[in-house]
Amino acid sequence: MTQALANADSRARALLREVFGFDSFRPPQEEIIDCVTAGQDALVLMPTGGGKSLCYQLPSLLRPGTGIVVSPLIALMRDQVSALKLNGVAAAALNSSVDSDEARQVYRDLRAGKLDLLYLAPERLLQDSFRSFLAEVHADHPLALFAVDEAHCVSQWGHDFRREYLELASVMQDFPGVPRIALTATADPVTREEIRARLGLLEGQTFITGFDRPNIRYRIGLKQDPKKQLWRFLSEEHPRDAGIVYCLSRKRVEDFADYLCSMGRMALPYHAGMDASRRQIHQDRFQEEPGLVIVATIAFGMGIDKPDVRFVAHMDLPRSVEAFYQETGRAGRDGLPSDAWLVYGAQDIQQQRRFIEESEGSSEFRQVSRKRLNALLALCETARCRRTMLLEYFGESGGGACGNCDTCLEPVETWDATVSAQKALSCARRTGERFGAQYLCDVLLGESTPRVRNFGHDRLSVFGIGGELDRKGWLSLIRQLSAQGLLEPTTDQGPAGLKLGGEAFAVLRGDAGLQLRKDPAPRAKSAARSPIQGGAEADAGEVDPRIREHLRRWRLERSREQGIPPYRLFGDRSLDDLVRRRPADLAELLQVHGFGTAKVDRYGEEVLAVLREAMLKREEEQAPAAEPPQGKEPADAELGSAARSTLEALRNGLELEDIARLRSWKLERVVEHAEQILCRGLLRFEELPGMDDLDPGPARRVLHDLDTSRPDVYKTAAERLKGRYERWELRLVHAAMRAEA
Ligand code: ADP
Ligand code: ZN
Repeated sequence: MTQALANADSRARALLREVFGFDSFRPPQEEIIDCVTAGQDALVLMPTGGGKSLCYQLPSLLRPGTGIVVSPLIALMRDQVSALKLNGVAAAALNSSVDSDEARQVYRDLRAGKLDLLYLAPERLLQDSFRSFLAEVHADHPLALFAVDEAHCVSQWGHDFRREYLELASVMQDFPGVPRIALTATADPVTREEIRARLGLLEGQTFITGFDRPNIRYRIGLKQDPKKQLWRFLSEEHPRDAGIVYCLSRKRVEDFADYLCSMGRMALPYHAGMDASRRQIHQDRFQEEPGLVIVATIAFGMGIDKPDVRFVAHMDLPRSVEAFYQETGRAGRDGLPSDAWLVYGAQDIQQQRRFIEESEGSSEFRQVSRKRLNALLALCETARCRRTMLLEYFGESGGGACGNCDTCLEPVETWDATVSAQKALSCARRTGERFGAQYLCDVLLGESTPRVRNFGHDRLSVFGIGGELDRKGWLSLIRQLSAQGLLEPTTDQGPAGLKLGGEAFAVLRGDAGLQLRKDPAPRAKSAARSPIQGGAEADAGEVDPRIREHLRRWRLERSREQGIPPYRLFGDRSLDDLVRRRPADLAELLQVHGFGTAKVDRYGEEVLAVLREAMLKREEEQAPAAEPPQGKEPADAELGSAARSTLEALRNGLELEDIARLRSWKLERVVEHAEQILCRGLLRFEELPGMDDLDPGPARRVLHDLDTSRPDVYKTAAERLKGRYERWELRLVHAAMRAEA
């Protein structure tokens, strides 16, 4: 290594710690950063959450001049710029949401060579006036680099195609010697070549990282009672986390969102049938408010940059392994344990197959779609490690059982189903390849229903030959045969007909054997998360939940004051690391994940104070054994569903006024809920978010002296207290007093 390179290397490491607060690079980051810093081009293929941004941010800091980042996603830009500024980096953005004053300032800074990074929408870069301005800048302060984010948008065959991307290369050509780095999370080899060609990266290196997302736990189960299953999953494993629930249709989206709300969970719908502004509001709220669930069709996805999405639940089968991987990939970008959870049933298979057959596309398109669906079904029905199969699909060798998917955690038994499969297939064939699964079961089990007799199927040789399995067993077998394409939906014979397909005849002839999985018993214990499985960076060790909660609330309030989402202040991993390490001074705080110099300068003292306070409080609580309020469960259950949703929202740190605004309720209604909640002792007054600066003392004294059975008691009390409290605040203080009485 030359001296210059070695220096750049140690500078990169120093900046990683000082600016970003990270201890080490993830495997390919350092290599990429070296390469771009040295002035070479690069193509970076990394899964979502892999840490692509660092690959152009650090070289922009290491090289003189401004790094120009092209991104099609305005929300992402805004987020990254505010995060960078918090870290003390001179970053700015130019896009349609920046007003003209701000834009002028950005131009001045850029002209003066003061910016480290400038984020741009592609349209801006293509404007002639901007191009010549940039050339002027470049003459005085050569640009650091061009980064093209979401580079797959250049692919005309992809679903994210952006016309402007095709012209980027011609702009970049005006700046010879400025390195280009293109980044995407799309792995597909064809797209890869297209990007290299269209962005003129032919000389540069390509960096591909593994597509494994070790912090995501994959679980695929059978759909039985989907609403109940979803509710169990959310309430047992993610009672306060943000997450995405994917459904196939708009109607189902609305339906599941309503259901979750009725159960007391804040859930927002998102689908293409909603008007654009409402969609945008829901997306922004999901991005910015903690603990929200969004129920969505696949219309929701690109541009979601929320690092702390803790689960992605699929209530219906996606179209392909790619789609499944993309959608579940939105969980756990921060590297903390997260769930990918899917339930599916025989009907999903039929439905997806039918979509394909009825689609408008060419026969070639249908052929490809069938293949893709089959690969996903194989993943669903496998008895092997899910992760291994997923990675194999992307051409990586999986490397054995992962220990963090349902089949690894609760191994599935398989059985030799060849003979039974032959029976089922010949039953379908002998009955004319037009009946559905239930009817086939009738015949196999020898049930002489009027319909069976009517068709004369009680006289077939297959009638009653299926004594080895019960109905559930046969349904499971038929589902698995459908998943393998040995049975296919008929397109012309009513809604549920099945005909033979694929290698069915090979199985019938006995040329191919079949191993199938035994379905786990329903309501089998869920693969609950016992040992925490994180990425390699996730440290082991206990995180005291009460201290964490205290800090979390502080973070929520502080981020609200600043109008940024909480994770921008610091992410959940930093939160855990803070609680684990309990830094005593600023130097120790600098060791905490995500705390660089700028953040420590700005928030250090405050964070340390909050931490000390939390630890003190915790010690006090430990003395008289902090029991939850008695009778908590029944009292909770007594609340109406709307009040339960308010309780949930309060526990998630939303203030009463927020809840009213978010749900378009009158404040009155939320206050009523809060009264019920306080009276039942489900929350204490001090636990109501946003009430900390309200001293209930004087109000208590006044209320104590008044006859509280009088209807005008709050009016009288408010007068005596000279407007120091709102009337509704008095109602809450009173409710808290009643709880104590
Ligand atoms: P991508 O753009 O690839 O989806 P990001 O660049 O947004 O991913 O990074 C994902 C997360 O990983 C962010 O929270 C980021 O701060 C974090 N991260 C990136 N690099 C590192 C690193 N070397 N050490 C620790 N955390 C990192
Ligand atoms: Zn596994």
